[in-house]
Amino acid sequence: MSHAQADEMFDRFHEECGVVGIYGHPEAANLAYLALYALQHRGQESAGIASSNGQTLLVHRGMGLVADIFDEKIIRRLEGEIAIGHNRYSTTGSTLLKNSQPLVVKYTHGSLAVAHNGNLVNAEELRTRMEAHGSIFQSTVDTEVILHLIAASRGETLVERIIEALWQVRGAYSLVFLSEDEMVAVRDPYGFRPLVLGRMKEKGKEVHIVTSETCALDLIGATYEREVEPGEVLSFSPQGMTSHSPFPNEPLSRCIFEHIYFARPDSLVYGRSVYQTRKEFGRQLAREAPVEADIVIPVPDSGVPAALGYAEEARLPFEMGLIRNHYVGRTFIEPRESIRHFGVKVKLNAQPEVLRGKRVVVVDDSIVRGTTSRKIVKMIRSAGAHAVHLRISSPPTTGPCFYGVDTPTRRELIAYSHSIDEICRYITADSLAYLSEAGMYAALKEKLGGFCDACFTGRYPVPLGERPRGSQLPLFAEIERR
Ligand code: AMP
Repeated sequence: MSHAQADEMFDRFHEECGVVGIYGHPEAANLAYLALYALQHRGQESAGIASSNGQTLLVHRGMGLVADIFDEKIIRRLEGEIAIGHNRYSTTGSTLLKNSQPLVVKYTHGSLAVAHNGNLVNAEELRTRMEAHGSIFQSTVDTEVILHLIAASRGETLVERIIEALWQVRGAYSLVFLSEDEMVAVRDPYGFRPLVLGRMKEKGKEVHIVTSETCALDLIGATYEREVEPGEVLSFSPQGMTSHSPFPNEPLSRCIFEHIYFARPDSLVYGRSVYQTRKEFGRQLAREAPVEADIVIPVPDSGVPAALGYAEEARLPFEMGLIRNHYVGRTFIEPRESIRHFGVKVKLNAQPEVLRGKRVVVVDDSIVRGTTSRKIVKMIRSAGAHAVHLRISSPPTTGPCFYGVDTPTRRELIAYSHSIDEICRYITADSLAYLSEAGMYAALKEKLGGFCDACFTGRYPVPLGERPRGSQLPLFAEIERR
């Protein structure tokens, strides 16, 4: 596939999400609500919760922030001891309530709800084939394809149907399903997106939780147990928790961008502290790209841990030269160009008292289009800084993500088409340096491998449009014949 084609298709691949599942708590929906609140950074466009009272699935979904979508009355209505939740961010084209999750359907075996984080690379192809055979889709999200495959499956148990469906999809998925009496969590065999397992006790009974990040476990007072393993299917039912590993092993491809930007710093992702990792990126960056300066400042909030690491390593004072207004949504999310440009000023304000006369190192986690950095550099200079040195705690972002992180098309990524010198001139900094790829892995203290770093290297573990291997399609022909 050409770059242009990939860019065209790319519009569909903007699905940053947070998911949660609670099994075995009388206030399951309330806990799911709290977990979604903790995961709000993973998506602000829409949120939803589906619960089961043993007989029926109840669902509430809405557009906007978790705290605005739910109130006590709604949560009380979401009765039952099992609940799953989802929050979602995606681009304008699909900003619709019908695309919000959990998706809920009725089929021969009852009702089924699903919450999905990630993107499938062969959803379009599967959808076209199913539509040709008469399937009717209600949304434009990949996740609905999975539901159709489950509905078409002849598996006897829910787990069997889910496994049969997932044999046919390729790409990134951390999923939580809910039926009347069962919850099933799955992480794709590559382990693209995070998913963790936690537990707590309620009146002596075991409560199981699956969620995207451990910060959600912290808020509800649950204990972190372990990650859901790549390729693992976990079922929670009145019979207890069972684990299955039905898929062949694939190269481990955990999203590295979770550690760079996306996850909350107080979370453990892939079993390691995001905060400590970001600090280490900053330290490594200071070793790789030192510069004569008076202070180190972060671009808050995402640049803070790396800036602390940089300052520590460079033995320079750490200051807050930029102050963030926390009540504005992330500027990156504003869909219209005009708003995005304006948005930086709305979100960040420079402090002349800190910056005047200083040679400043500014640390941010990434440059995407370059528009934010350009505004920030100008802002810092107008506040009286003598020199502005921008340091980025990740390698240049040169490729879009097909697996669930919102990055724009290749054409819009400044580092795809420009050299570091050119970017430096565009953003009007005195110097610009990125963390090297080798430095990133040195900071992670891991050898190359185990991570998906396609946004920096262009090495895509599962290419766009890739089909499942022939041998992995034992049941699709059957489905087609129906
Ligand atoms: P840009 O102006 O497009 O270069 O945006 C760069 C800023 O966007 C940086 O401060 C990053 O912290 C932030 N950023 C990077 N990736 C994402 C993402 N996927 N979603 C939202 N913000 C992001």
